[in-house]
Amino acid sequence: MDLIRTASDLRELTSAWRADGEVGLVPTMGSLHDGHASLIRRAREDATRTLVSIFVNPAQFGPGEDLAAYPRDEDRDVDVCRGLGVDAIWAPPVEEVYPSGVPLPEPDAGPVGETFEGAARPGHFRGVLKVVHRLFDLTGPCRAYFGQKDAQQLFLIGRMVRELAIPVTIVPCATVRESDGLACSSRNARLSPEEREQAGCLFLALSEAAGLARAGERETAVLVAAMAREIGATPMARIDYVAVVRDVTFEAIARIDGPARALVAVRFPSARLIDNLLLPGSAGAR
Ligand code: AMP
Repeated sequence: MDLIRTASDLRELTSAWRADGEVGLVPTMGSLHDGHASLIRRAREDATRTLVSIFVNPAQFGPGEDLAAYPRDEDRDVDVCRGLGVDAIWAPPVEEVYPSGVPLPEPDAGPVGETFEGAARPGHFRGVLKVVHRLFDLTGPCRAYFGQKDAQQLFLIGRMVRELAIPVTIVPCATVRESDGLACSSRNARLSPEEREQAGCLFLALSEAAGLARAGERETAVLVAAMAREIGATPMARIDYVAVVRDVTFEAIARIDGPARALVAVRFPSARLIDNLLLPGSAGAR
């Protein structure tokens, strides 16, 4: 397995790969967990060669966010990738991604980029699209793998690829969860044992919304109230937002009229967590 650091080495390696097969890209911020592993396994199944990028992207963190405290453990990540049969890791220093004085494209995240995660974290999606665009430019992947755990990010990346006609297939991957339903996340490591126990409330809330949708409830206010009640009953959790969006546009809706997704964002004292679930029965709802 190659471990490369520079943009020029990345270009050289992936263009050699493309000459005789397909390149799969799994972008990550490291601190790899079972969610990342499922993306990597999927890439290994589909693509001839798999590249994992490990880069904690400063452009997607706002002032006062957890950039410095974001967990990092490159040696362990390298072992995980080797164990999963990854062909190469790109783990660049910041100046290889953002060379000083070089203006890079900053695709517009549009109005959806200002809602939910974008409202809570101004500029976040501008930073996400900037780094993903740069990664696509340097790597030229045939397929790129992203988790549904970050559904708004996945939506915006899919739209960017369509709008800019970038020749890459985006492969959405199901959310991997712990036994109590908590979505795997690098930030989970920061939770105290007590917070970790209570963090199951995100999935409980989403499951309640799913249960209501399955039973035929179409008014999203009812689902939102149920989710807010569940999280509100959790002593250490503070709601950032709970919502139901139309899956194809990511707009909040009052009534479920097609595929819909429930979203939750919750602050614990040590970490802010997000999760979402496609609502059952909503695909055929009118
Ligand atoms: P991150 O390192 O948090 O930026 O995540 C890198 C990729 O892994 C993103 O596409 C995430 O959506 C995906 N991911 C993170 N957590 C999970 C999870 N629990 N299940 C599936 N994919 C995940």
